[in-house]
Formats: sequence, C-alpha cells, structure tokens
Amino acid sequence: LREITGFKAKWHIFIVLLIIVILTAALSAIATDKENDSISDTGFNQTEKILAMSPNFQDNCLHIFFIDVGQGDSALIESSGHYLLIDAGDNDHGEKVVSLLKDFGVSRLDYVIATHPHIDHIGGLDTVIDTFDIETIIMPPVGHNTGSFRELLDAINRKELEITSPLVGTDYKLGAAAFTIITPVSSYGENLNNWSVGIKLIFGETAFILCGDIEKEAEADIIADSGDLAADVLKISHHGCNNSTSDEFLRAVDPTYAIISCGADNPYAYPDEETLTKLADAGITLYRTDIDGTIICTSNGSFLTWTTLKKK
Ligand SMILES: [Zn+2]
Repeated sequence: LREITGFKAKWHIFIVLLIIVILTAALSAIATDKENDSISDTGFNQTEKILAMSPNFQDNCLHIFFIDVGQGDSALIESSGHYLLIDAGDNDHGEKVVSLLKDFGVSRLDYVIATHPHIDHIGGLDTVIDTFDIETIIMPPVGHNTGSFRELLDAINRKELEITSPLVGTDYKLGAAAFTIITPVSSYGENLNNWSVGIKLIFGETAFILCGDIEKEAEADIIADSGDLAADVLKISHHGCNNSTSDEFLRAVDPTYAIISCGADNPYAYPDEETLTKLADAGITLYRTDIDGTIICTSNGSFLTWTTLKKK
C-alpha cells in the first residue's frame, strides 16, 4: 500500500512539473511575439541595429550602408572612420537616418552629397545637418521651390556651411578610399533628376557607382565624358525607373551587383519590370531595400560581402 501511495505521489509531481513546463513554453512564446511586434513598429529595429553594428569599423574594410528609407535614397559610406552620406530619404526618414548614424558612433561627416533637390533625397538632410558636424556639402547648382528644399538651405545657413558645387573629374579622399565626381557633366534645365551628383567610389580593386536619379540623357553624357566606368556595384538610378539604366550605361559599368532603393508598394510602382528584366538578363545580382531592408556591402579591397537586415 505504501508503495502504491509513493507511486501516486510521484505521478502527481510529474503532472505538476509537466504543467509548469507547458506554461513556461506558452509564456515565452507570447513574450517573443510581443518582442517581434515592437520590432516591426519602429523603422530601424533593435535587430537591425545590432546586426548593423556587427561589421567592425576597425577591420580596415570599406562599408557601404544602403539605408532603407522607404521610397527614397540614402547611403552611408565609411572608410577608416571617415564618412560620406549621400542623401537622407524624405522628411519622415531624417530622424531614422540620424539615429542609425548615432548608433554607429558618427559625430562628424566628412562629406554630405545632396544629389538633387527632390524630397525623397533631401527631405531628411536638414535633420542630419542640424545633428552632425559636416566638413563638406556637395550639391548641384539648382534649386526647387518646396518647403523641404528651403528647410535644407536653412539648415545649411544655420551651420554656416559653404556649398561645394560638383565639378566633374574632382577627386576626394575618404579614409583609405577615394571618390571622383562623374556627373552632372552638362546643364539639364528643369530636369532635376539629370542634375543629380554622381560619383565613382574606389577602394582597392573594388569600385562603386552611385548617381542619384539620373536619366538616360545624363547617362549618355557620362559615357561620352568619363574614361573608365567599370564598377563592381551600380546603385541603380531613379529607383529602377525605366527612364534610367540605358543598355549602353549598363554595359559601360558592367556591374556584378546592383542596388535598387525604393519603398514597398510605392505609388510609382518602382522598380519598372523593364529594368528588372535587363538586370536579370545581364546576370547581375540585385539587392532591393524594399525587399532586403538596409543593405550592407563590405569591401576588403578585393572581395565584397553582403548583409541584408530584413527578416524574410
Ligand atoms: Zn528619387
């Protein structure tokens, strides 16, 4: 009888333990769900920040962050503790770009390029300029009658920055890397996209081309003007619109990788199917901020490695 009672007691303990295990598992599952919810609510979530910090800035590599700013453009380039920021998305994304840069420990930007005065490129730049020390700001010699552009000029004036006009062929040093202005080659009247400041960035044997929103006309001028356009990475102009990325320009750059910066379900339906087909036909590996989130490219001077930050 004593033995039977002992068995019953053990059995009860087992059931109690089982219930505890099930409850613990259920509670931790709920907690994980909550964590995921809070992550998706904030633009640059904790996971992104941690992952983004993982490339070690002391590794003597070049780092390029194609920052997910929805429908717009923003790229941060770092070499040996020196920084170049190209655009900062629209007004709604200025704070996000600033908070990401702060997380990286940035206090000073060697260069800021405001490619052209459209809101999806310069909207967030006033917040950036108000926050960080800026050495050189490069902007094309064109204006735009919008509140966002006036805010950009106001921020530049508050900091008493002198605007540098892009002069094609001018070389700038960025840590152990260097970039050359390759566009605007000509004057483009009312077409602000074609006025975009474009660069060829070189680090060791690796090269990158980023040209804002230039269209086929400006691309043709670059081909006629520039020598070697060959690059490993091409930031596709104008969010993948079929007005840009001519066959000739794509052949001249002949990239292995391409980046399209655009927003999910954007009102322009960028990128255009024609552009995507063209890149696929050329066997180019494509990364997209609308699909991949913020994209990090790391170059050791010979090889490129890629990290994308969105959970798929
Ligand atoms: Zn744009």
